[in-house]
Amino acid sequence: MDGRSGMTASKIRFDVLTLFPEMFHGFLHSSIIKKAHEKGLVETSLINFRDFSTDKHRTVDDTPYGGGGGMVLKPEPLFRAVDHLLNGVDTRPPVLLMSPQGQPFTQRKAEELARHSHLIIICGHYEGYDERIRRHLATDEISIGDYVLTGGELPAMVIIDSVARLIPGVLGNETSAASDSFSTGLLEYPHYTRPAEFRGYRVPDVLLSGHHQRIETWRRQQALRRTWERRPDLLKTAPLTEEDRAYLRELESRAARDE
Ligand code: SAM
Repeated sequence: MDGRSGMTASKIRFDVLTLFPEMFHGFLHSSIIKKAHEKGLVETSLINFRDFSTDKHRTVDDTPYGGGGGMVLKPEPLFRAVDHLLNGVDTRPPVLLMSPQGQPFTQRKAEELARHSHLIIICGHYEGYDERIRRHLATDEISIGDYVLTGGELPAMVIIDSVARLIPGVLGNETSAASDSFSTGLLEYPHYTRPAEFRGYRVPDVLLSGHHQRIETWRRQQALRRTWERRPDLLKTAPLTEEDRAYLRELESRAARDE
């Protein structure tokens, strides 16, 4: 499937353009992401775009026109590397530029990207990119948060991880991605496991009751409460039932009484 279908792809390929491919090794060879590759659901190619430089010194960066500090990534190696990846490709994949100036990355964006079967990710370094890369090569600029990292490799791993786990079959339990924080529009409810009592701290009785319906209601209310307390901004767009709204009104009035 590709980006036009509106559905999650059945498998996905990531082509990552980086000057530091070795940074990905631990990530790609561990845990769920490793298994996803072994199952053939995810394929990741690490391409060192220095291999696409045009001079004998394999230069990828240069000083900025107009002066100032830092080195700027040159356009030629990245354009040539992307041209190479697009050679023979029917559907042009999104080309994601990692950048602290980009659109903030969210679960919604991860879901949107998971509809594509192929993504190209560009990891910057040094002072930044020649502006022509931003304007004429990238289709999306993505930031993973309002802080500055030394390179785009960690952001690329964040994107690969969050998108790959949405591909059917990557997570052992198919329901777990659907109930995760943000997927439902809310933060997730609290989890408990054995023992039922630890250092005097007890698991809520309802979870030990075996009463499925009461547990579901408790979890929904906990998710609402947690979101209301920590991320009230999410409640503006979360899909809410009349029952949810009534519960939130109850929380509001309880808070007003306690003031
Ligand atoms: N001078 C640039 C600026 O002020 O926008 C910052 C460059 S940063 C030191 C080097 C590279 O790290 C960026 O080109 C980008 O690929 C990556 N990077 C740093 N912070 C990032 C963030 N929050 N999200 C995504 N990528 C980031």
